[in-house]
Amino acid sequence: MISNDLSIFNELESSVRSYIRSFPAVFTKAKGYKMWDAEGKEYIDFFSGAGALNYGHNESKMKKKLVEYILSDGITHSLDMATQAKAEFLEKFNNVILKPRKMNYRVMFPGPTGTNTVESALKLARKVTGRTNVISFTNGFHGMTIGSLSVTGNAEKRKGAGIPLEHVVTMPYDSFVNDQFDTLEYLERFLEDNGSGVDTPAAMILETVQGEGGINTARMEWLERIDAICKKRNILLIIDDVQAGVGRTGTFFSFEETKVKPDIICLSKSISGYGLPLALTLIKPELDRWSPGEHNGTFRGNNPAFITATEALSYWEDPAFEKDINRKADNITAFLTAAVEKYPELEGEVRGRGFMQGIESKVDGLSGKIAAAAFERGLIMETAGVNDQVFKLFPPLTIDDEGLEKGFAIIEDSIKSLIS
Ligand code: PMP
Repeated sequence: MISNDLSIFNELESSVRSYIRSFPAVFTKAKGYKMWDAEGKEYIDFFSGAGALNYGHNESKMKKKLVEYILSDGITHSLDMATQAKAEFLEKFNNVILKPRKMNYRVMFPGPTGTNTVESALKLARKVTGRTNVISFTNGFHGMTIGSLSVTGNAEKRKGAGIPLEHVVTMPYDSFVNDQFDTLEYLERFLEDNGSGVDTPAAMILETVQGEGGINTARMEWLERIDAICKKRNILLIIDDVQAGVGRTGTFFSFEETKVKPDIICLSKSISGYGLPLALTLIKPELDRWSPGEHNGTFRGNNPAFITATEALSYWEDPAFEKDINRKADNITAFLTAAVEKYPELEGEVRGRGFMQGIESKVDGLSGKIAAAAFERGLIMETAGVNDQVFKLFPPLTIDDEGLEKGFAIIEDSIKSLIS
C-alpha cells in the first residue's frame, strides 16, 4: 500500500477505531515533531501519541541504544525476572527522578499500559485499607478497563461497560461548579456526614490536569487541601500522572510545585520515552503490601522499553531541559491568549499549563472543526472534553521554536478559515 487508501481499515478493522477518523491518512514515517503519510505529505505533530511521545518520534539517542540492544540479543521478554535492563532503569529512575525530589517510593510494573497502573492502584488501596469505596472526580479519565472506567467521570465513555462498578462516588473537580463554589468544603462535609450513606473511602483518585476531560487544571492549593483531607481520614491519595506526568506540565511529576507526596502514583505513556508500552505504579514503601504474584501479567517486563526509558531519563539530568520546556510553554500560553483576544468569535478560554494547554470554545462543534482544518493544513491536533469542546496543543517537549511557530501559524490559519 503506497497511498492514503483506507479501504483495508474500513473493511477489516473493528468499528471501534477512532483516530483513523480524525486523522484520515496512512502514516509511514516520523521523526521528532514531524510525521509523513503514504503520499509524502508532512505533518507537524501537536498530538504526541496522546502524550506517549514527549521526546518526539524516533529520538536519536534512544533509537541508537535500542538498536544496539536488539543487535546484541538483549532480553526482550522476561515477565518479572531480574534483567540487567530493568536493573539499570530502576537505578537511574531512583538517582535521577526520585532521590533529587526526596521521594521514597517502591516501583511496581503493573502491566504494559496506563489502565494497568490505575487498576493496580485501586486494588492496592482497597487491600491496604480494607475499605471498598473510592472517590473519583467529575471529568476524570483513567483508562478503558472496567475498574479504571468505573472511576472515569464521563458517562459516554462508561456506556460500553454497562453498569459501572459499585462503590465509586464522583465528586466535583476544582472549579467544576464555578470559581466561587468550594468543592472541597462540599467534599469534607460529605465525608463527615453519616447522612451521605457512604463509608470512608479507601482512596481518592485524580489527575492534576485532566487530559481527556478537557484540560481542566486543579489549583495547587486545591491539591494541597485534598492531600490534607486524605491525611486526616487515612484515605489514600492516588495521583494519575499517566498523561500529565513525565514533563507534560513542565516538571517531571505534575504535582511537584506542591507539598503533596501522593500515596500511589500512576505513570505510563511517555515513561518509556520512545512510544513503547511501559507503566509504573509508585507506592510509598509502607503501603507496598502486595503478596508475591497478587497482581501480575505476562507483559510486565518490556526490556526494550527499559532501554529507551533509561536513556530518556538522561534529559532530566540537565536542569536546562526543564527550563527550556517552561520557556516554550510560556510561548504556547502567549499564543493561545492572543488568539482568544484576537478572535472573539471563538468564545474561547485558555486552559491548562506547561505543554498541556488548549482552548475551550463555547461555540458548538468549533474546536473539532479547527482540528480538522488544521489536519488538512498539515497539523495533527486532538480535541478533548465531554463535547470535544477543547482543542489541545500537545507537541513533543523537545520541539524547537520553529516547529512551534509553524504549528501556531497553521492553527491561526485554521481559525481564520472558519470564522470569517
Ligand atoms: N490515565 C490517564 C490520565 C490517561 O490520560 C490515560 C490515557 N489517555 C489512561 C489513564 C489510560 O492509559 P492507557 O490508554 O495507556 O491504558
